[in-house]
Amino acid sequence: MKHSKFLNRACGAVFLAAFICVAMALPAHAAQRKCTQELRDGHAAFLKKLRAHNFTSGAASGSGKAARAMTQWLKDSHADTVRHEEAHKRAAGKWAGTTEYFYYTWWNIPYATAGCHKFKRGIPLEVAIKSALAPEKPSYIDLRLAKKWQAELDRKNGKR
Ligand SMILES: [Zn+2]
Repeated sequence: MKHSKFLNRACGAVFLAAFICVAMALPAHAAQRKCTQELRDGHAAFLKKLRAHNFTSGAASGSGKAARAMTQWLKDSHADTVRHEEAHKRAAGKWAGTTEYFYYTWWNIPYATAGCHKFKRGIPLEVAIKSALAPEKPSYIDLRLAKKWQAELDRKNGKR
């Protein structure tokens, strides 16, 4: 018992160290997305919306009107999430990398609840900004990153 507790703590420390190492290895002006926070926030927002709809009481049986409404809502939510991430990816062009998703599984079918597109290292700031603002409804993280990268770009170009 004590032993596994120690192991958990040690692994946590190793994970944190690796994370800091990665963060420090990036050049100062690298535009990059830290997906962990973004996925967690997106998934939390999804769960809040799901709860607000209050589907589960009637939908738990997996059949009937309530279940159909919930399935449709999950399908729409999945499509919105994928469309949002595809917009980021398309705008990144040749700098497009990989997209990570969080899923909610309902009757064995996974529905994307949150996503995060990680473009390739070395992406020019202009392209990173365009990519962040590409979706129809950029998230607050998208907007925050675009603002941050725009400020970096202005600094680079000697503007204040
Ligand atoms: Zn986004």
